Amino acid sequence: MLKKIRKYMKIGITILTIITIVSSIVGLLMLLDSLNLIDLGGLTEVSSGSFGTVTDAEIKDLLTMSDEEVWRGLTGGLLSEKPTETLPSNASQITAAVESQLETITVPTWAWENEGDTTNLNKVTKNRSIQVNKFLAKLWTAFFTDLYNADKNFVIAEGSIGCYRVDGTGYGQIGYRSAHTYGAAIDLNWYEDGNPYGSQQPYTKEEWEALPENHLKYQIIYVGSPIVEIAHKYTLLWGGEWNGTTKDIMHFSFVCDGKTRAERIQLFAN
Ligand SMILES: [Zn+2]
Repeated sequence: MLKKIRKYMKIGITILTIITIVSSIVGLLMLLDSLNLIDLGGLTEVSSGSFGTVTDAEIKDLLTMSDEEVWRGLTGGLLSEKPTETLPSNASQITAAVESQLETITVPTWAWENEGDTTNLNKVTKNRSIQVNKFLAKLWTAFFTDLYNADKNFVIAEGSIGCYRVDGTGYGQIGYRSAHTYGAAIDLNWYEDGNPYGSQQPYTKEEWEALPENHLKYQIIYVGSPIVEIAHKYTLLWGGEWNGTTKDIMHFSFVCDGKTRAERIQLFAN
C-alpha cells in the first residue's frame, strides 16, 4: 500500500515538475516576444505596441519607399505618380489594376457592447474586415493592431471603417486624385458629428476631455489622440492636420493629401 502511494506521489511530482518547466519556458518565450527579442508571430508581430517602433521588415521597407515605388506598388506598375486629373483618360485601366490587387484584411477593434444605448460605455473586441490594396495590407493590419492594443478608449462605430472605393468624379470630388481610389486611405467613424469633412476644426485634448460621457466622445479623433500618434508611426497623414481651413477628421492616408512620401518620412518617421 505504502509503496503504491509513494509510486503515485513520484508520478505526481514528475508531472508537476514537467508542467512547471514547460510553463516557465512558455512564459520566458512570451516575455522575449513582448520585448521583440524573438518573434512568436500572431497579431503583435508587426510592432512593439509602443509608438515609434516598427519591427516588421516589409513595413519598414514600405515606409521608406519613394513616391514612384509606392505608385507602382499600388497600381501593379501602371502609374509612377498620382494622376493630375480627377478623371484621367486611363481611369478604367487604373481601376482594373487596383481591383486586381484588392485584399480583405481582418483586424481587431474595440466596439460597443450595446450600440443602441449611447451611455453604456462597455466595450467588446470585434474583428472587422476591410478591403485594402494588398501592397499596404501589412501596414493597415499593423496600424489597426497597434490602435487596438494602445487605446482601449477609441471605439469604432458599426459600419464605420472604409478604405477602398473609387471616389466620385463629380463637382467638388477628387476621383483619381484620392488615396481611397487606390486603397491607400482609411476613413473611421464618419457617421458621427465628431469627425466631419469640412470647416470644423478637430478638438484639442482639453476640449475632448470636457465632452459628455457617451459613445460619441470615444469615437472622436482629436489632436494628440493615440490614433494620430500611431498614424504618424506609419507615415500616415491625418486629415485633421491638413494645411488650410478644410479638414477631413475621419481620414488617414498613405499618399495624396498634399504631402509627398519624402515629406511624410521627414515629418513622422523615427
Ligand atoms: Zn477619406
